[in-house]
Amino acid sequence: MKKLYIDFDGVILDSIKTTYEIMDKEGIDKYNPVEARAFYEVLDWDRTLEQTPEINNSLKYIKQLIDSNQYEVNVLTHIVCYREGVYKIRFLKKHIPELSIILVPKEFSKTEVVNPKDAILIDDYTENLKEWKEKGGIGIKFDDKKRIHQFPVITNLSEIESMI
Ligand SMILES: [Mg+2]
Repeated sequence: MKKLYIDFDGVILDSIKTTYEIMDKEGIDKYNPVEARAFYEVLDWDRTLEQTPEINNSLKYIKQLIDSNQYEVNVLTHIVCYREGVYKIRFLKKHIPELSIILVPKEFSKTEVVNPKDAILIDDYTENLKEWKEKGGIGIKFDDKKRIHQFPVITNLSEIESMI
């Protein structure tokens, strides 16, 4: 079975957009790492994740990928703080109980936490894909606007099956 790692923020949920909007409303400087971290530590993650729009039916398609039995599917997501991890796991398990989830503390690269060799990473952040490729993995760029890119691009997770 092919190993498939799927990013969370910007692939499954449009969560960065939601949290940036809340920070703007509350007058928090989102580009200041200390302020941003303090915000994430007290954020109502449960409500925030529930209110964040899902991107292009991602949860439905992850379920389909698992059910196809062709992939070992893992969500591989960066977290800024402990509570973010707790609520991401709760959210995903509520929708797809059989899903595996790997949390990566922001201090580490995704490639330091799992072995990318011959595994596929679907991510919206190009730096993650570059690091992944350097360590022998296969990177696929998630972009809901399907722009031309140095990596193959998909706009929804159902496109994976026809690519591999
Ligand atoms: Mg992302």
